Amino acid sequence: MKCKQGHALPPDQKPHDRRRDPIFDYRCRICGNVFNLFTDTVWQGSQYDCRKIVLIVRGVAQGTPTLHLADELEVDYGALLERRHRLQNWHWHTNRTPL
Ligand SMILES: [Zn+2]
Repeated sequence: MKCKQGHALPPDQKPHDRRRDPIFDYRCRICGNVFNLFTDTVWQGSQYDCRKIVLIVRGVAQGTPTLHLADELEVDYGALLERRHRLQNWHWHTNRTPL
């Protein structure tokens, strides 16, 4: 794992913040930036827990309508739609196939 500046996380470094267990925040020892597993991914800034992220990815991959998925997972429709678009854009730029 690396910070946004590309500095690697030393193997002995402890988390800066454990409130979102198991998604820990780390403070870079070189530049001071705080980062976590989702930094520079489509999930950056998301407050979804890991279970919901997996279910969202599954739902999008299966073509489940956003409104249905939002109701099923009890999440905000607009926020979910934005994540869906980020995920689809990432997939398109990575694979050149629609998701
Ligand atoms: Zn850094």
